[in-house]
Amino acid sequence: MTTPRPLLLRGFRLAVLLAVCALTVVVTDRIPVVTGNLAHVYSLGEDVLTNGKLTTQELIGLIGDCEVPELPPHCGDPPARWSTAERPVAICTFQSGRPPWLAEAQFRQMVVDAAAQWNDAEAAIGIRYNGDCASGARWGTSNRRNEIGFDDERDRVSGRAVAVTLTTTSWSPPINPTVRNIIETDIVVSEIFGNIPECLVSTLVHEMGHAIGFGHSTDINDVMYPSLNSFSAATCRAAPSSAEVSRLRELYGLNLRPRLSTQSAVAAAVGALVSLNALAVDPENEAVTYEWIQTSGPAVALQPGSTGQVNFTAPVSVSILEFRVTARDRYLHPASATVRVTVTGVGTISGTLPQSGLGLFVFNGGTSDQLLAAAACPQSTAVFWSLDADGQFVAYVPGTTVSSVNAAWLAKFPGGLPAGTPLLGRCR
Ligand SMILES: [Zn+2]
Repeated sequence: MTTPRPLLLRGFRLAVLLAVCALTVVVTDRIPVVTGNLAHVYSLGEDVLTNGKLTTQELIGLIGDCEVPELPPHCGDPPARWSTAERPVAICTFQSGRPPWLAEAQFRQMVVDAAAQWNDAEAAIGIRYNGDCASGARWGTSNRRNEIGFDDERDRVSGRAVAVTLTTTSWSPPINPTVRNIIETDIVVSEIFGNIPECLVSTLVHEMGHAIGFGHSTDINDVMYPSLNSFSAATCRAAPSSAEVSRLRELYGLNLRPRLSTQSAVAAAVGALVSLNALAVDPENEAVTYEWIQTSGPAVALQPGSTGQVNFTAPVSVSILEFRVTARDRYLHPASATVRVTVTGVGTISGTLPQSGLGLFVFNGGTSDQLLAAAACPQSTAVFWSLDADGQFVAYVPGTTVSSVNAAWLAKFPGGLPAGTPLLGRCR
């Protein structure tokens, strides 16, 4: 029975490896690098553990482990990993061969969701999904691009398999290697994958686990367990287990997510310019990127401001908007927060309307009812006008019972009036 390596030994080995890596940079042309391919298959059924490693104790293998009857040096210690320069691992998708039930955008979202599961683990590795591959028509190995696609006439996914990850590793020196790197990984999914979205996402999480360095696990609760039952979504594990997260940290080292602070609640006037600010500090002092998205309320156009900042013009209607900001470090570890913006009517006008006759004034934004209140005019006699684009006056008569009278006004200001709207008014 194979037992997990003690953590202390792992730490020691890591230190030695770093020293050797530095050496290879200097004398790289004198150390031959050998490459080889590894394939890990994810299959249907709960009884698939063919590598002879089935134990009652949880064991999470690594992509470069020798499986019976393989022998070093193409597999074995040291563990195969992505070099620092290649992290986070960039992956793109091909759409050809996609099962008919699966839409393009849905597939892309599944890849985003699957990558997020690994990026949430605080290890010095991440997966950067770049959308559909910029060139080419289908996945291929040995092109130094990491791709996710569907099987085709090459038939890499057959029998009970649902997906396979094809990984190219390099090692040096050729005998008794001291460095072993992953240099390419390609994920091939069955073109007849059944319509159980949870299981496809789970499969992508599993294959991405291979892509970043994992072999299979003997624990059925681990996402790296080598089989699933696609008739039971419950068997399709959604995320790495805590044991898998720990193992990933052993492989690449710990790397913590940024700490994020932002306003939790913001008040703004209708039509006002609003700035939202977030500040993230990364424990490892890595550069942080920010992403702002609106999650609820009337849609506004977000404009990037200074670092961590986003600006927008508040809607002209009284409303509540919510935004989500996510900060990510170089390994894409996310830290998120929600900011709620309450947009209130200002309900004021500049100047005072004359007791009789017409007056020109500026309304500071809000609904038509708020305009009437701000003008302090009797509803029965008040009339307001706005100049429209072709120089015609558009009237608002608060006391009218004829709906067509205000139709043009309501069409012009469907959500209320923006701040700074010039108007002509008559009170009595
Ligand atoms: Zn697998």
